[in-house]
Amino acid sequence: MTNTVRVTGVSHRYGNATALHEVHIEFPIGVTAVLGPNGAGKSTLLGLLSTALRPQSGSVTVNGVDSARNRKAYRRNLGFLPQGFTLPGNLTVAEFLALTAWQRLVPRGERRAAVDAALRAVDLTHQRDAKISQLSGGMHRRVGIAQAIVNRPGVLLLDEPTVGLDPRQRRGLRDLVSELGVGRTVVLSTHLTEDVAATSDRVVVLDEGTIRFDGTVDELTGGRNKTASEIDAAYELLVTTGDDR
Ligand code: ADP
Repeated sequence: MTNTVRVTGVSHRYGNATALHEVHIEFPIGVTAVLGPNGAGKSTLLGLLSTALRPQSGSVTVNGVDSARNRKAYRRNLGFLPQGFTLPGNLTVAEFLALTAWQRLVPRGERRAAVDAALRAVDLTHQRDAKISQLSGGMHRRVGIAQAIVNRPGVLLLDEPTVGLDPRQRRGLRDLVSELGVGRTVVLSTHLTEDVAATSDRVVVLDEGTIRFDGTVDELTGGRNKTASEIDAAYELLVTTGDDR
């Protein structure tokens, strides 16, 4: 299983507005950041990869499984942390993850081990019996990632996972995202170049629904240091619009 996500000729419109225009792209194993200004089409792309949206034209496949024609099988290999994901504060971490494992069709006999493995992966083993409402913001986000990986997906989608965290929590989360990219396809949507510098093997720059760049971080910066400011400078040359600039 290569777990490469293949996006072939995908377009998406909301009424008259084109959010994605004829996108062709592959996401291989490792962390790929999708970087772009507000309105670039990042959430639409992640929505299509997650099956929350259906491609209006073109296709999305993983290991030859089509996201629209074989939705169930496609989703079985997928984990997703949506933007603004909220957690049930009255459950313990382990209760919530056991519930998620059941929802994601993890077989009964494997659920306990799946929850334990997800807790270990996000370094929350000691918080397994804590109420979610008692956790810090950084720990909340880790629980969000744990629910995304509890079914052991080959493909993990993270929509702006560092938003709203303080600098220390962000650093911890970036280390975690890098670890998750070992042997797994991780698609990370972000508008923070620090996220890209710290976590990503590859970067895709999206602007006005079009791919402006697709390659390694070294290729983006022209082989210069893999720092946020070098990535920023290269990115500024690529994007033309965005209401956050
Ligand atoms: P990003 O995540 O990069 O900010 P989006 O995918 O959210 O970009 O949006 C891409 C474009 O599609 C924007 O112009 C946005 O206004 C438009 N758009 C997104 N969602 C909707 C929607 N539900 N209805 C109408 N237009 C939308």
